[in-house]
Amino acid sequence: PLILGIETSCDETGVGIVRGTTLLANAIASSMDEQARYGGIVPEIAARAHLEALTPTLDAALAEAGVALSDVDAVAVTSGPGLAGALMVGVGAAKALAIALGRPLYAVNHLVGHVGVDLLRPADAGGGLLELPTVALLVSGGHTSLLLVRDLLDDVELLGETVDDAAGEAFDKVARLLGLPYPGGPQIDRAAAGGDPAAIAFPRGLTAAKDQAAHRFDFSFSGLKTAVARYVEQCQARGEPVPVADVAASFREAVVDVLTAKALAACRELGVPRLLLGGGVIANARLREVATERAAASGVALRIPPLALCTDNGAMIAAVGAQLVMAGRAPSGWDVGADSTLPATVVQA
Ligand code: ATP
Ligand code: MG
Ligand code: FE
Repeated sequence: PLILGIETSCDETGVGIVRGTTLLANAIASSMDEQARYGGIVPEIAARAHLEALTPTLDAALAEAGVALSDVDAVAVTSGPGLAGALMVGVGAAKALAIALGRPLYAVNHLVGHVGVDLLRPADAGGGLLELPTVALLVSGGHTSLLLVRDLLDDVELLGETVDDAAGEAFDKVARLLGLPYPGGPQIDRAAAGGDPAAIAFPRGLTAAKDQAAHRFDFSFSGLKTAVARYVEQCQARGEPVPVADVAASFREAVVDVLTAKALAACRELGVPRLLLGGGVIANARLREVATERAAASGVALRIPPLALCTDNGAMIAAVGAQLVMAGRAPSGWDVGADSTLPATVVQA
């Protein structure tokens, strides 16, 4: 089936088109540049930007895929989790399209989309097959989640999530502390080059057994952010220059260490020999490097989709929509709405 997928949960307006597990188009517009002026994502600006970008992004996707809107068999859309206003724009647009075309609507979980996107890899790279069960580490500006996926449509378990800041958010906040612009991830990466990752022993949140957490594999990054802030203040109080390269490298190492250690501990403890990565923070080369080393040492098969499919996009939502259609699932109701806190376990709303 030919599926159109719409994604508007954060600052990317994504429209993707797939036929089954074949990727036909993945058009994306981002309000990142506009958001950068405010040093972070402003929800109202994101919602308005989606409204403006949706029609041109839809046109771009149809042109890229070489299909007409009337060819579409079903419309899939992210209904959560994410920013409420931003989600509402996508859900409203998807409903309008589905009704106008007389096609079914499938409301899809954003996090499950980050996993399902792996189905879209090229056929010569094993495309169309999701090797399960797998642990999935999803790290972006809005989420940091560790999932156990036994079945994409019916069995997704939350192993852990951040109890405070998301990993990408921590990069953004620490960059700001160091006087670097938004988005902070690439800035920290650049600043860390030449720095000593062992220069400063920053804390690794929620790694000790005594640490209180709701889930076995929860994450915490606010203590790390505070430790960086205190370190910077102490330098300034002593009238010394802040060693930006060392701080950036040590901070990045702390984030990468805790993300990869927990993901591989989950694989080991649950006896799952597969780990899938997703989310915008996967752009971090050090994260990919340490994950690769540690996965190899643990005998875990690591999957890293291409970066364009790791960041938020419509194709990942279309991919899950196609699975729902092919499994003969009933469409979502016309009364389905945006749910900013949709749990990872709810694949279809
Ligand atoms: P969502 O949370 O809904 O997935 P988002 O827009 O917040 O969406 P992405 O667009 O997937 O997230 O990723 C953006 C985040 O990734 C930002 O926080 C940014 O700082 C971070 N990031 C980008 N490049 C890097 C990098 N090289 N290293 C670390 N973090 C990075
Ligand atoms: Mg983004
Ligand atoms: Fe995301």
